[in-house]
Amino acid sequence: MSLTTTVLPNRSPRFERWISAGRILARSMRFRLAVGYVSLVTVVLLGAGFAFQVALKNSIEREARALLTERWGAVRGYLHLSEGRPLWVYETGDSVQVDSVNRLRRRLLIADANGNLLEISEHFPSPDLETRSALRSAAVLREPAFEFRETTQGRGFMIRRGPFPHGDTLLVLALAQPLQGINQQTRIVLKWYFWSLPVLIGLLGWVAWQMAGRALLPLRQLATAAEVVSSETLSLRISPRGARDEVDVLTVRFNEMLDRLERSFDRVKRFTIDASHELRTPLTAVRGQLEVALITAKTADEFRTAMETAMEDVERLSKIVRSLLLLSQAESGQVVLQTSLVDVSRLVRECAAHFELPASAKGLDLSIEVPENCTAEVDPVQFERLLMNLLSNAFKYTRPGDSIRVSVRRFESDIVLTVADTGPGISKEHLPFIFDRFYRVREDGGDADKGIGLGLSFVQWIAQAHGGRVQVQSEEGCGATFTVTLPAGDSSNHLRVLPID
Ligand code: ADP
Repeated sequence: MSLTTTVLPNRSPRFERWISAGRILARSMRFRLAVGYVSLVTVVLLGAGFAFQVALKNSIEREARALLTERWGAVRGYLHLSEGRPLWVYETGDSVQVDSVNRLRRRLLIADANGNLLEISEHFPSPDLETRSALRSAAVLREPAFEFRETTQGRGFMIRRGPFPHGDTLLVLALAQPLQGINQQTRIVLKWYFWSLPVLIGLLGWVAWQMAGRALLPLRQLATAAEVVSSETLSLRISPRGARDEVDVLTVRFNEMLDRLERSFDRVKRFTIDASHELRTPLTAVRGQLEVALITAKTADEFRTAMETAMEDVERLSKIVRSLLLLSQAESGQVVLQTSLVDVSRLVRECAAHFELPASAKGLDLSIEVPENCTAEVDPVQFERLLMNLLSNAFKYTRPGDSIRVSVRRFESDIVLTVADTGPGISKEHLPFIFDRFYRVREDGGDADKGIGLGLSFVQWIAQAHGGRVQVQSEEGCGATFTVTLPAGDSSNHLRVLPID
């Protein structure tokens, strides 16, 4: 038994590098575009070359046929028969006639119906092919036929051959017309054309490579830009070329994506800064109050007062921490709505009842406008939170003499809750931000200062988590109207989880 060992060729690392570079190049869009373009143009040029060749050949043959048909008729004028032999009758003094007959007799063959040669020109192509039987069969043709013939030297001829009745006698006539002369020129032209094709295609390949490179330049810029984008360089933008093509659309979309990313990074940054600021303020206050108490307080009452003030700030701190925790849970989709069919009218009346006494104490006119038994599929806990936030804002920001109106309306598939007040309102420049976390309009002290700027963020999240939305209409000095639209839902319980935006 013999063993055969196959030795695999050991490729050098350099060769491997070449191979992988080649593979990368072959995969590149630029290469594929250029190759596609060159292949298409090559096919078109080759096709055009061949089509031209065929068209030219046909036209040459058509011309030869027309010439032979014309000469066939001319022979009839000059040819006569004398005792069965051909006799050419013409004016020997008329140079035109002499020329004409000489031209006719230059490539001509005349035979009788039995195939016996009567006259054959010296220049008639391939006379050996004109056998007696071939001539006999030509005599019985219905009409003269054309055929292409090539001599052993490769010269092409168009031949018209067939019966030629002369009085009572049937002759066989064959006339030949060389194609070689015209073919020669065509061949030269086509040879040049096909030889110059590789150079032309090479040139086109180079042009296609450059064009593809130019067309893909914005894509490469996009790729480079995407490479350097980080949280620090989110302000980077690529200017569209102004061509309004697909690449421009891609560039615009890429820039829009960066806009969105930048905005959400900014929001996260602002949130972190705001959160630390919000936590630091009460912490500093607590620390200050305790330090002052330690140094100055002498009696138990003084310590008690200091601790009570500190407790208020600690309470505020824990409220912020609780709210933040809840918001971050909502953000990560951990808060699950427990929806059920709830009598929204009753819920609204109960919540508003909490504000009746404080409102009349503050000199506010609180009115409720809810239909009997308006039910909807909501999470009662979250709905109450939403309503309490809106009511407490309206209560907080209105002044004595102002009014607050709470209403619920049921539409076909939605319920619309409105909390409107005639308070100071919100100016245009603040309106777009009031749903952002920690965003507060007034920092000028008073009750309004007690808010932590998270109430409306909750309102927005709760509305969206129910598949609804919240809108605000307000102008400075003209009150504020918050409208919450929620889908009324059906009677089956369902859960919905929605991360906060
Ligand atoms: P806050 O805890 O400060 O009330 P919110 O998120 O509830 O925080 O509200 C954000 C800001 O929107 C408030 O600081 C306030 O300036 C403004 N705002 C909210 N509701 C009203 C209202 N009914 N009237 C006037 N301004 C309001």
